[in-house]
Amino acid sequence: MVKREWSDLNVNLVIGCFNGCWYCYGRRLAKWANKFRRPHCKLCNEFIPHPHFENLDKLTPKQKSKFVFLDGHFDWNGKGVKKRWLETILDKTKECPQHTYVLLSKFPQRYSRLTYPRNIVLGATVTCEGPDTSKEMTEHPTKLKDLWRIAALRKLKSNRKAISFEPLLGPLPETKTRKATNNSDFTFANINFQSL
Ligand code: SF4
Ligand SMILES: [Zn+2]
Repeated sequence: MVKREWSDLNVNLVIGCFNGCWYCYGRRLAKWANKFRRPHCKLCNEFIPHPHFENLDKLTPKQKSKFVFLDGHFDWNGKGVKKRWLETILDKTKECPQHTYVLLSKFPQRYSRLTYPRNIVLGATVTCEGPDTSKEMTEHPTKLKDLWRIAALRKLKSNRKAISFEPLLGPLPETKTRKATNNSDFTFANINFQSL
């Protein structure tokens, strides 16, 4: 399991992602962890999104307050991730309100499908790998590589927000980034140049 500087605990409640990022560590870790799982989980091996709600027990109301990363092995807003799974996870976060929960997504514009308690940090991943030709990029004002995700995140009304530049795969255009994040309510920005 990858320990991130900004998280105390990673809990994998859903595993699998169709985004197909070439640098994905979650896919490698899910496959590795599956070697020790009895019985083996076919969906983990194929990295198809599916719940592992036996891991809900890793969160308890009596734990000390922690920064908990909830989607290290899937994309919260990714294809194939069912809304009812997310609702189950959100219910659990309400049972354990002492923690701060961090979500990351490559589709931050889809966070608005749900409502989130105050202790959930909505995050977007930006890699600056480009050029970005996605449909979303043309719909947001910051038309530079995947910086459109910051603009999409800023449009969300609620809660605390975070940007994770990880892995950072291209030059981070300082002026554009500062403009995109200025006066913001971002809880943190994580920059990792060497997570591959
Ligand atoms: S979005 Fe995350 S979990 Fe999904 S393929 Fe990319 S790195 Fe892996
Ligand atoms: Zn599995």
